[in-house]
Amino acid sequence: MTNFAEPPTVTAVCTGPTHNTSNYMPATPEVPATHKMVVRSLRRRCPVCAASSISRHMAAVKQICPGCELDLERQVGSFIGGIGLNTMVSFVALFSTIIGGFVITKGEASITRILIPALIVAFGVPLFFYARSRLLWVAIELRFWPLEPNEVTHAVQ
Ligand SMILES: [Zn+2]
Repeated sequence: MTNFAEPPTVTAVCTGPTHNTSNYMPATPEVPATHKMVVRSLRRRCPVCAASSISRHMAAVKQICPGCELDLERQVGSFIGGIGLNTMVSFVALFSTIIGGFVITKGEASITRILIPALIVAFGVPLFFYARSRLLWVAIELRFWPLEPNEVTHAVQ
């Protein structure tokens, strides 16, 4: 004969945490709104804290933000993502310049109206957009991979 005992009834009542949880886990910093991060990146400022010291000039950007200590290479491939974005924008600008030159000159293969502007765009746009594209890529990454606790020291909303 099998003895089927009644399952024990649970009478414990949860009364909340029994230890101090105020410093238990660091708070996750908020990511600024997308439009703010995009505008900050295009102004060569940190997308998180808006520090302008992250980029000395248009072709230089620091890996660690001096303002909030955000690492610009926070994901594997962050550098390549920024360079890829820069390449795409540069090719679109170059292609538009060449096509626009042919349209303006009505098909004439002009050196002064097509080749020289195309060379200026080919060298100028990648330099002008380098730091912006790196920072813009970080802003894109922040949309998909939000900040981790202790990833930045502070953020300006
Ligand atoms: Zn910063």
